[in-house]
Amino acid sequence: MDNFEKESYFQSQVSEGHVLADEDAICCICLDGECHSNNVILFCDLCNLAVHQECYGVPHIPDGPWVCRRCLYSPSRAVSCCLCPCRRGAFKQTDDGDWAHVVCALWIPEVGFANSVFLEPIDSIDRVATARWKLTCCICKRRGFGACIQCHKTSCYTAFHVTCAQQAGLYMKVEPIRDVGTLSGDGPLTGFRKTAFCEQHSPKENEAQESSDNSGIEDDTTSPDSLAGYHAKMQEKVKHARKLLAENSHFGPVLSVPVIPSSRFDFTIV
Ligand code: ZN
Ligand code: ZN
Ligand code: ZN
Ligand code: ZN
Repeated sequence: MDNFEKESYFQSQVSEGHVLADEDAICCICLDGECHSNNVILFCDLCNLAVHQECYGVPHIPDGPWVCRRCLYSPSRAVSCCLCPCRRGAFKQTDDGDWAHVVCALWIPEVGFANSVFLEPIDSIDRVATARWKLTCCICKRRGFGACIQCHKTSCYTAFHVTCAQQAGLYMKVEPIRDVGTLSGDGPLTGFRKTAFCEQHSPKENEAQESSDNSGIEDDTTSPDSLAGYHAKMQEKVKHARKLLAENSHFGPVLSVPVIPSSRFDFTIV
Protein backbone atom coordinates (compact mmCIF):
# COMPACT_ATOMS: atom_id res chain seq x y z
CA MET A 1 0.00 0.00 0.00
CA ASP A 2 1.50 3.33 -0.94
CA ASN A 3 1.11 6.44 1.16
CA PHE A 4 -1.57 7.73 -1.03
CA GLU A 5 -3.71 4.69 -0.58
CA LYS A 6 -3.03 4.68 3.14
CA GLU A 7 -4.26 8.21 3.38
CA SER A 8 -7.31 7.53 1.33
CA TYR A 9 -8.08 4.68 3.66
CA PHE A 10 -7.62 6.61 6.86
CA GLN A 11 -9.33 9.72 5.67
CA SER A 12 -12.42 8.26 4.18
CA GLN A 13 -15.12 6.74 6.29
CA VAL A 14 -17.22 5.08 3.65
CA SER A 15 -18.59 1.60 3.99
CA GLU A 16 -16.39 -1.42 3.71
CA GLY A 17 -16.63 -4.56 1.68
CA HIS A 18 -15.24 -3.56 -1.68
CA VAL A 19 -14.07 -7.04 -2.60
CA LEU A 20 -17.33 -8.86 -2.94
CA ALA A 21 -17.68 -12.34 -4.25
CA ASP A 22 -20.06 -11.31 -6.97
CA GLU A 23 -19.90 -14.00 -9.58
CA ASP A 24 -21.69 -11.94 -12.19
CA ALA A 25 -19.34 -8.99 -11.94
CA ILE A 26 -17.31 -8.12 -14.97
CA CYS A 27 -14.42 -5.72 -15.18
CA CYS A 28 -15.49 -2.69 -17.18
CA ILE A 29 -12.03 -2.38 -18.71
CA CYS A 30 -11.43 -5.88 -20.11
CA LEU A 31 -15.09 -6.98 -19.98
CA ASP A 32 -14.04 -10.23 -18.38
CA GLY A 33 -15.35 -11.65 -15.14
CA GLU A 34 -12.41 -13.90 -14.41
CA CYS A 35 -10.83 -13.52 -10.99
CA HIS A 36 -7.49 -14.73 -9.70
CA SER A 37 -6.18 -14.36 -6.19
CA ASN A 38 -3.64 -11.79 -7.31
CA ASN A 39 -5.99 -10.00 -9.67
CA VAL A 40 -9.44 -9.72 -8.14
CA ILE A 41 -12.29 -7.49 -9.23
CA LEU A 42 -12.47 -4.42 -7.00
CA PHE A 43 -15.64 -2.43 -6.47
CA CYS A 44 -15.60 1.28 -5.85
CA ASP A 45 -17.31 1.96 -2.55
CA LEU A 46 -19.01 5.03 -3.93
CA CYS A 47 -19.98 4.34 -7.53
CA ASN A 48 -19.71 0.55 -7.56
CA LEU A 49 -17.39 0.55 -10.55
CA ALA A 50 -15.99 -2.96 -11.08
CA VAL A 51 -12.39 -3.29 -12.26
CA HIS A 52 -9.62 -5.84 -12.10
CA GLN A 53 -6.66 -4.79 -9.98
CA GLU A 54 -4.36 -5.14 -12.98
CA CYS A 55 -6.71 -3.43 -15.40
CA TYR A 56 -7.04 -0.33 -13.20
CA GLY A 57 -3.54 -0.42 -11.72
CA VAL A 58 -4.17 -1.31 -8.08
CA PRO A 59 -1.35 -3.72 -7.22
CA HIS A 60 -2.19 -3.77 -3.50
CA ILE A 61 -5.73 -3.98 -2.19
CA PRO A 62 -6.18 -1.46 0.61
CA ASP A 63 -7.37 -2.92 3.91
CA GLY A 64 -10.27 -0.55 4.11
CA PRO A 65 -12.59 0.96 1.55
CA TRP A 66 -11.45 1.49 -1.97
CA VAL A 67 -12.72 4.25 -4.22
CA CYS A 68 -11.96 4.78 -7.88
CA ARG A 69 -9.99 7.87 -8.91
CA ARG A 70 -13.05 9.62 -10.29
CA CYS A 71 -14.86 9.30 -6.94
CA LEU A 72 -11.72 10.33 -5.09
CA TYR A 73 -10.98 13.49 -7.04
CA SER A 74 -14.36 14.42 -8.44
CA PRO A 75 -16.83 12.84 -6.03
CA SER A 76 -19.86 14.93 -6.82
CA ARG A 77 -19.27 15.66 -10.49
CA ALA A 78 -19.25 13.33 -13.45
CA VAL A 79 -16.15 13.66 -15.58
CA SER A 80 -15.76 13.21 -19.30
CA CYS A 81 -13.14 11.37 -21.28
CA CYS A 82 -11.02 13.50 -23.58
CA LEU A 83 -10.86 10.56 -26.00
CA CYS A 84 -14.50 9.47 -26.35
CA PRO A 85 -18.10 10.53 -25.62
CA CYS A 86 -18.91 7.89 -22.98
CA ARG A 87 -19.50 9.28 -19.48
CA ARG A 88 -19.35 6.03 -17.57
CA GLY A 89 -16.54 3.63 -16.92
CA ALA A 90 -13.11 3.54 -15.33
CA PHE A 91 -11.39 6.91 -15.46
CA LYS A 92 -7.90 8.12 -14.62
CA GLN A 93 -6.49 11.59 -14.79
CA THR A 94 -4.22 12.66 -17.59
CA ASP A 95 -0.89 14.36 -16.97
CA ASP A 96 -2.46 17.65 -18.07
CA GLY A 97 -5.29 17.48 -15.54
CA ASP A 98 -7.97 16.12 -17.83
CA TRP A 99 -9.69 12.74 -17.55
CA ALA A 100 -9.72 9.70 -19.81
CA HIS A 101 -10.85 6.09 -19.68
CA VAL A 102 -8.17 3.55 -18.89
CA VAL A 103 -9.54 1.49 -21.77
CA CYS A 104 -9.28 4.40 -24.23
CA ALA A 105 -5.67 4.93 -23.16
CA LEU A 106 -4.96 1.23 -23.61
CA TRP A 107 -6.34 1.04 -27.10
CA ILE A 108 -5.25 4.29 -28.70
CA PRO A 109 -1.73 3.48 -29.84
CA GLU A 110 -0.09 6.84 -29.15
CA VAL A 111 -1.47 7.14 -25.62
CA GLY A 112 0.30 5.65 -22.62
CA PHE A 113 0.65 5.66 -18.87
CA ALA A 114 3.42 7.45 -17.02
CA ASN A 115 3.50 4.60 -14.53
CA SER A 116 2.72 1.26 -16.10
CA VAL A 117 1.90 -0.48 -12.82
CA PHE A 118 -0.39 2.12 -11.30
CA LEU A 119 -1.61 3.06 -14.79
CA GLU A 120 -1.51 6.77 -14.07
CA PRO A 121 -1.38 9.44 -15.06
CA ILE A 122 -2.46 8.86 -18.63
CA ASP A 123 0.01 10.65 -20.88
CA SER A 124 0.98 11.44 -24.47
CA ILE A 125 -2.52 12.57 -25.45
CA ASP A 126 -0.74 15.28 -27.45
CA ARG A 127 0.90 12.57 -29.55
CA VAL A 128 -2.40 11.19 -30.83
CA ALA A 129 -2.33 11.35 -34.64
CA THR A 130 -4.25 14.39 -35.88
CA ALA A 131 -6.30 12.17 -38.18
CA ARG A 132 -7.77 10.24 -35.26
CA TRP A 133 -9.51 13.34 -33.92
CA LYS A 134 -11.26 13.81 -37.27
CA LEU A 135 -12.62 10.31 -37.79
CA THR A 136 -16.34 9.58 -37.65
CA CYS A 137 -17.34 6.87 -35.20
CA CYS A 138 -19.48 4.26 -36.97
CA ILE A 139 -21.42 3.62 -33.77
CA CYS A 140 -22.25 6.98 -32.21
CA LYS A 141 -21.84 8.77 -35.57
CA ARG A 142 -19.98 11.63 -33.97
CA ARG A 143 -17.23 13.20 -35.99
CA GLY A 144 -14.33 15.05 -34.47
CA PHE A 145 -15.35 14.08 -30.96
CA GLY A 146 -12.50 12.34 -29.17
CA ALA A 147 -10.11 10.01 -30.96
CA CYS A 148 -11.10 6.85 -32.83
CA ILE A 149 -9.39 3.60 -33.61
CA GLN A 150 -9.99 1.75 -36.88
CA CYS A 151 -10.92 -1.73 -38.04
CA HIS A 152 -7.90 -3.98 -38.20
CA LYS A 153 -8.94 -5.51 -41.52
CA THR A 154 -6.61 -4.40 -44.32
CA SER A 155 -8.17 -1.60 -46.35
CA CYS A 156 -11.19 -1.20 -44.05
CA TYR A 157 -11.10 2.28 -42.57
CA THR A 158 -14.20 2.04 -40.42
CA ALA A 159 -13.54 4.02 -37.26
CA PHE A 160 -14.99 3.78 -33.77
CA HIS A 161 -14.45 5.09 -30.30
CA VAL A 162 -13.01 2.47 -27.98
CA THR A 163 -15.93 2.65 -25.55
CA CYS A 164 -18.52 2.74 -28.35
CA ALA A 165 -16.98 -0.44 -29.74
CA GLN A 166 -17.11 -2.02 -26.30
CA GLN A 167 -20.76 -1.15 -25.87
CA ALA A 168 -21.62 -2.42 -29.32
CA GLY A 169 -19.80 -5.67 -28.63
CA LEU A 170 -17.38 -5.35 -31.53
CA TYR A 171 -14.55 -7.84 -31.62
CA MET A 172 -11.71 -6.49 -29.47
CA LYS A 173 -8.89 -8.70 -28.42
CA VAL A 174 -5.88 -7.91 -26.27
CA GLU A 175 -3.10 -10.49 -26.25
CA PRO A 176 0.05 -10.19 -24.20
CA ILE A 177 3.27 -10.22 -26.20
CA ARG A 178 6.08 -12.01 -24.43
CA ASP A 179 9.73 -11.98 -25.18
CA VAL A 180 10.55 -14.85 -27.51
CA GLY A 181 13.81 -16.67 -27.16
CA THR A 182 13.03 -18.25 -23.84
CA LEU A 183 12.40 -21.98 -24.08
CA SER A 184 8.98 -21.88 -22.50
CA GLY A 185 7.90 -18.89 -24.58
CA ASP A 186 7.04 -17.42 -21.24
CA GLY A 187 9.48 -14.53 -21.28
CA PRO A 188 8.87 -11.09 -19.84
CA LEU A 189 5.86 -9.19 -21.04
CA THR A 190 6.89 -6.70 -23.69
CA GLY A 191 3.51 -5.28 -24.63
CA PHE A 192 0.08 -6.09 -25.90
CA ARG A 193 -1.20 -6.92 -29.35
CA LYS A 194 -4.57 -5.30 -29.81
CA THR A 195 -6.97 -6.26 -32.55
CA ALA A 196 -10.36 -4.70 -33.14
CA PHE A 197 -12.77 -5.21 -36.01
CA CYS A 198 -15.81 -3.29 -37.19
CA GLU A 199 -19.19 -5.00 -37.23
CA GLN A 200 -18.66 -6.18 -40.82
CA HIS A 201 -15.32 -7.79 -40.12
CA SER A 202 -15.75 -9.04 -36.58
CA PRO A 203 -14.79 -12.71 -36.75
CA LYS A 204 -17.32 -15.24 -35.67
CA GLU A 205 -15.43 -16.49 -32.62
CA ASN A 206 -16.72 -13.46 -30.80
CA GLU A 207 -20.18 -14.93 -31.08
CA ALA A 208 -19.00 -18.22 -29.66
CA GLN A 209 -17.98 -16.41 -26.49
CA GLU A 210 -21.25 -14.55 -26.40
CA SER A 211 -23.42 -17.59 -26.74
CA SER A 212 -21.62 -19.45 -24.00
CA ASP A 213 -22.36 -16.47 -21.78
CA ASN A 214 -26.01 -16.79 -22.71
CA SER A 215 -25.99 -20.43 -21.61
CA GLY A 216 -26.16 -21.77 -25.12
CA ILE A 217 -29.47 -20.29 -26.19
CA GLU A 218 -27.94 -19.37 -29.51
CA ASP A 219 -27.74 -21.97 -32.20
CA ASP A 220 -24.07 -22.69 -32.68
CA THR A 221 -24.26 -24.94 -35.70
CA THR A 222 -22.49 -23.77 -38.80
CA SER A 223 -25.50 -23.50 -41.03
CA PRO A 224 -24.90 -21.60 -44.29
CA ASP A 225 -26.89 -18.60 -43.16
CA SER A 226 -25.34 -18.33 -39.72
CA LEU A 227 -22.79 -15.76 -40.84
CA ALA A 228 -25.55 -13.55 -42.22
CA GLY A 229 -27.44 -14.10 -38.99
CA TYR A 230 -24.38 -13.15 -37.06
CA HIS A 231 -23.97 -9.90 -38.97
CA ALA A 232 -27.63 -9.10 -38.45
CA LYS A 233 -27.12 -9.68 -34.76
CA MET A 234 -24.06 -7.43 -34.75
CA GLN A 235 -26.11 -4.71 -36.41
CA GLU A 236 -28.75 -5.06 -33.71
CA LYS A 237 -26.08 -4.72 -31.06
CA VAL A 238 -24.66 -1.64 -32.71
CA LYS A 239 -28.12 -0.08 -32.86
CA HIS A 240 -28.67 -0.88 -29.22
CA ALA A 241 -25.30 0.59 -28.26
CA ARG A 242 -26.10 3.72 -30.27
CA LYS A 243 -29.31 4.15 -28.30
CA LEU A 244 -27.58 3.59 -24.98
CA LEU A 245 -24.88 6.04 -25.91
CA ALA A 246 -27.38 8.66 -26.91
CA GLU A 247 -28.96 8.32 -23.49
CA ASN A 248 -25.75 8.20 -21.51
CA SER A 249 -23.44 10.67 -23.08
CA HIS A 250 -25.44 13.79 -22.40
CA PHE A 251 -24.42 15.95 -19.57
CA GLY A 252 -26.21 15.70 -16.30
CA PRO A 253 -25.98 13.58 -13.22
CA VAL A 254 -24.72 10.17 -14.21
CA LEU A 255 -24.99 8.78 -10.73
CA SER A 256 -26.14 10.20 -7.49
CA VAL A 257 -23.01 10.09 -5.44
CA PRO A 258 -22.79 11.14 -1.81
CA VAL A 259 -20.77 14.29 -1.45
CA ILE A 260 -17.71 13.86 0.69
CA PRO A 261 -16.13 16.93 2.22
CA SER A 262 -13.26 17.84 -0.03
CA SER A 263 -11.01 18.25 3.01
CA ARG A 264 -10.95 14.47 3.23
CA PHE A 265 -9.34 14.34 -0.15
CA ASP A 266 -7.04 17.22 0.28
CA PHE A 267 -3.79 15.63 -0.70
CA THR A 268 -1.81 15.62 -3.85
CA ILE A 269 -0.96 12.94 -6.32
CA VAL A 270 2.47 11.49 -5.96
ZN1 ZN B 1 -10.20 -6.42 -16.29
ZN1 ZN C 1 -16.05 5.28 -8.10
ZN1 ZN D 1 -12.96 7.22 -23.27
ZN1 ZN E 1 -18.51 6.66 -30.88
